[in-house]
Amino acid sequence: MTDGSNLPKTLVRRMPLQPGVSRPVVTPIQPSVVYSSESPDQLEGQYEGKEHGYTYSREGHPNADLLAAKIDMLEGGQGGIICASGMAAVGTALMGLLSQGDHVIGGDQLYGRSLRMMTQDLPRFGIETTLVDTGDVAKVAAVIRPETKMILVEVMANPTLAIADMEGIAALCAEKGILLAVDNTFTTPTAYRPYDHGADIVIHSVTKLLAGHADVTLGYVSAKDPALTEKMKVFWITMGATPSPHDCWLAERGIYTFDLRYAKSQENAALLADYLATLPGVKRVVYPGRADHPDHARAAHLLQGQFGNMVSFEIEGGRAAANAMIRAMPDMAFAPTLGDVGTTVSHSATSSHRLVPVAARESIGITEGFFRVSVGIEDIEILKADFAAGCAAAARAV
Ligand SMILES: *Cc1c(COP(=O)(O)O)cnc(C)c1O
Repeated sequence: MTDGSNLPKTLVRRMPLQPGVSRPVVTPIQPSVVYSSESPDQLEGQYEGKEHGYTYSREGHPNADLLAAKIDMLEGGQGGIICASGMAAVGTALMGLLSQGDHVIGGDQLYGRSLRMMTQDLPRFGIETTLVDTGDVAKVAAVIRPETKMILVEVMANPTLAIADMEGIAALCAEKGILLAVDNTFTTPTAYRPYDHGADIVIHSVTKLLAGHADVTLGYVSAKDPALTEKMKVFWITMGATPSPHDCWLAERGIYTFDLRYAKSQENAALLADYLATLPGVKRVVYPGRADHPDHARAAHLLQGQFGNMVSFEIEGGRAAANAMIRAMPDMAFAPTLGDVGTTVSHSATSSHRLVPVAARESIGITEGFFRVSVGIEDIEILKADFAAGCAAAARAV
């Protein structure tokens, strides 16, 4: 402020909001980084956990706590932690709980970045990783060592939509005293609630179906044992994996329609899967709700008829056919994410599995003609028309 200014000298002094009898229906966004306490006594009480309150937003803030409470309700969890992304949640679980000398087992078809963290990052800190086919509990049992502390599993693998042997793995973990961490992003708490089936830790990429509008990156992690939650929370604060209050607010708004969106997109996914199977040039359709899916019986048993919104399929022809298909569907988002209200299509060979050697990815069926669809809530006729045009163009390019 220059000398001649007539602005009030107290302008920057923060003032409390006007108190009143009316309260907002919608959750306010609280962007404050710092919170003031009444006295050193009160601050000490907060740090010691005797009084509830906030101090510095990296250590927690109201919008994150509220979103965590909502996802806790969905998962039957408690004390959940909201992280700045799904990967921050995976990292909080793995790096917050494991130590040098520990061994961790992961599914060999985990999310690409989770695989990277397991195989590239954990070994730098002296934590060994073994990847294994989680569809077969005997294979999992065979790689357990005395130092095995945790098994990280995704119920439904990306993009093959293979279903893990969750019952076998949960029994094995209980018998051996190994922590079972479940990344429930694809299955969601509507189809599968890991805590009801023996899980110790639940992880989500909230970015996907829970937030549902492709406009935030957020994650969630919680543990059944509060001592584990506390350990993860300390690491989360130290790493600064805290989310933005604005993002938490958007995800909270998204979560209120999660169940409606998921129901509609599952209905569309089942219809689209059957329709794709009728199109010329489509070699195979992969959808756990179809009787021809290799894990259909297990999916029907574990997921109670909620087969998800993800459909994969393979067309005849190589890259040229794949390019022709995508170019013939200009209104469809060709984008490597999932769980948005709008349908998105991804080409695994050039996105999630780009760095996987060709022979390895082809051994699990991911060829140049392989696509993964995250089905949204559009009118099914629009989707059918798009894919009919795409597949016809692909067939002409073969
Ligand atoms: C996307 C995803 C992640 C990572 O989440 P981000 O929010 O992108 O960091 C982890 N696991 C699964 C299964 C995912 O689909």
